[in-house]
Amino acid sequence: MCAWFGKKDEIPYAVVRCRRHTMAVSVDLNGEVTVRAPLRTSDRSIADFLRQKQGWIQKKQTEAWKAAAKYAPLTLLEGEWMPILGESYQVHRRFGDMGAAKAKKHSNITTEGQRICIPAALGKEEVVRWLKERLRGTLEKRLEYFSGLMGVGYGSLRVTSARTRWGSCSAKNNVSFTWYLVFCPPDVVDYLVVHELAHVKQKNHSKAFWEAVAAVMPEWKQKRAWLKANRKVMDLL
Ligand SMILES: [Zn+2]
Repeated sequence: MCAWFGKKDEIPYAVVRCRRHTMAVSVDLNGEVTVRAPLRTSDRSIADFLRQKQGWIQKKQTEAWKAAAKYAPLTLLEGEWMPILGESYQVHRRFGDMGAAKAKKHSNITTEGQRICIPAALGKEEVVRWLKERLRGTLEKRLEYFSGLMGVGYGSLRVTSARTRWGSCSAKNNVSFTWYLVFCPPDVVDYLVVHELAHVKQKNHSKAFWEAVAAVMPEWKQKRAWLKANRKVMDLL
């Protein structure tokens, strides 16, 4: 491991010398820097090369650290930011101003602008219950909209705590969605709704199934890719 000084801090990096003609630098998901260089490159030319790339490296590192922090498990403490259906809300814990909060009711949670106010007496369980209700409200509206658009009906709606799948559609056309979808943007929730409704007619992932999805959501591949890349939202709470 080597290190050089960036604008603010010392930036450590690893050097891999191998059979190649040019130098290349990469920044991984943890913000770690690796330089690949031809076998006989001097340490000095590597350092010079890194100095030239400094702006790019620091930008990539900031992105990686921000992305990692985005999925740090939520603590529900004052000042924390929470993603809810594409919006960011800052946690405000309210102390001692509500007798009703002692009853530990999730309905005492409110949002005011960009703030989510959670009475101090409430814990994770009540917050999860509130988030589930919030998602259910959205799902009911979107199911109604897309089932009309696609001309398909469905049985019942269930909001689950699954961490292995985003949604499902049963043989009786009951649709289920994991509550972790509440941490996803609304267009991604829409994609899941369309996906499960398309299963009402096609109980598989055949060509005909994807055609039914694409008919109402041509950009479905992007939404699916988002879900794949952001699976960690299932570990947020
Ligand atoms: Zn499916």
